[in-house]
Amino acid sequence: MLRIALGFLASLALNSALAHSPLAPHVHGLAKLDIAVESTALELLLSVPAQSLMGFEHAPQTTQQKAQLAQALNMLKSPATVFEAPGCTWQRAEATYAQDTEHADFAAHYQAHCTPSRISLEPFFKQVKDVHKVQVQLISTHGQEAFHLTAEQPLLELPQ
Ligand SMILES: [Zn+2]
Repeated sequence: MLRIALGFLASLALNSALAHSPLAPHVHGLAKLDIAVESTALELLLSVPAQSLMGFEHAPQTTQQKAQLAQALNMLKSPATVFEAPGCTWQRAEATYAQDTEHADFAAHYQAHCTPSRISLEPFFKQVKDVHKVQVQLISTHGQEAFHLTAEQPLLELPQ
């Protein structure tokens, strides 16, 4: 079942990668989070428009813009600055930046061994003021569910 869930998550990741295409641009202010949870394995994929994280989405040119890019990647690479997930020890945290002619996105990938009853994105919303909503797709043994998280409601209850 884990293999099936994570396989499906991979296809969601592929879909969000396709969102870089000019035919399906991202929406500024809207981030996406795909979560797969199975037994004690937790996997998350976060996608954030660069415009909403750095305030620009062209190739960084000035020293300040390069520093902003490095800072954004560092933030995404430290799960504790993005999520509150009680009882989770993060095994993997990676972040990348991808750009096309019009838009740029950050993508981050996290893995942990834990069974949290909830995940909060409060730390993320505190740092990334220009993201108004995070669209969540949760895949678990209970099936697939969709949620919206906001700064006012950053808490996601996970099925036990
Ligand atoms: Zn954009």
